[in-house]
Amino acid sequence: MTAKLIKGTEIREEILTEIEQEVKEIKEKHGVVPGLVTILVGENPASISYVTLKIKTAKRLGFKEVQDSRPADISEKELLDLIDKYNKDDSIHGILVQLPLPKHIDEKKVLNAIDPDKDVDGFHPVNVGRLMIGGDEVKFPPCTPAGIQELIVRSGVETKGAEVVVVGRSNIVGKPIAVMMMQKGRGANSTVTVVHTATKDLAYHCKRADILIVAAGVPGLVKPEWIKPGACVIDVGVNRVGEKPSKKDPNKMVPILRGDVDFEAAKEIAGWITPVPGGVGPMTITMLMKNTLMSLKYKLGIA
Ligand code: NAP
Repeated sequence: MTAKLIKGTEIREEILTEIEQEVKEIKEKHGVVPGLVTILVGENPASISYVTLKIKTAKRLGFKEVQDSRPADISEKELLDLIDKYNKDDSIHGILVQLPLPKHIDEKKVLNAIDPDKDVDGFHPVNVGRLMIGGDEVKFPPCTPAGIQELIVRSGVETKGAEVVVVGRSNIVGKPIAVMMMQKGRGANSTVTVVHTATKDLAYHCKRADILIVAAGVPGLVKPEWIKPGACVIDVGVNRVGEKPSKKDPNKMVPILRGDVDFEAAKEIAGWITPVPGGVGPMTITMLMKNTLMSLKYKLGIA
């Protein structure tokens, strides 16, 4: 293997330790801790496991953690009233509504009801606008793209003037990471190209990339010959390609996960590469915690 492995699990620990330390200092000096509420509607097993992990992480960091679980038949009005309650609660600095919501609830209406200054997911149109303006305007960069940028920066990859190619233009990954990498500032200042299903020659663009960020959701989409030797490859894709017995409990089946890049071949060509799993994945919740801490710091005027 020639590429340096970008280990999201290790970088996550680095950042969580920093957050934990800051929470202690703020508690000592100001007598407050970051407050995060996670609102879970219904009993979708994947949502329950995401929320459980978020709660566990928040607790480890010394946050005030409120888990508010509601039945699947909650009305839209009741859910909006609940959000209003947390918008007004001074001990809560981050509000997270776990998606997807049941079909009778308008997801957009619910997300837009969150106070933009407590929108730690960064999905509210106000925060999307702030991200576009860049610089000091940015309050809550969306968590997965923020995690990608941290991986790049903490791995020592030069971004200034780099050719960045982003595969995918979703609102949660492709578009925001493209905007973030083109801004003038730390870990950015790059020349960015975004490619998608209507792009005429995907290989041509990928081959030009000093930093290749792939978020398509298509296993093995990026071929090794599309990678520029020495490039930094960030594979955001998480694709279930089968099942295997769990190492802990061989009677239990767990999914086999693959990224959007042919990792085995790509690692011989790239300069840096993220594995799947264990690359971008661990960063999303980490950056959610960072945004919640930042929300408290903005409120205290110490950010
Ligand atoms: P998405 O909303 O489905 O968007 C996929 C994007 O990729 C679209 O813009 C699509 O183009 C483009 N695309 C799909 N197939 C392509 C192809 N053959 N050639 C070129 N472009 C193609 O997906 P997403 O939510 O951004 O997620 C992408 C992947 O990242 C998924 O595997 C997801 O599970 C993973 N993910 C991981 C994390 C994490 O690790 N924390 C977080 C979020 C997402 P069009 O716009 O033209 O359709």
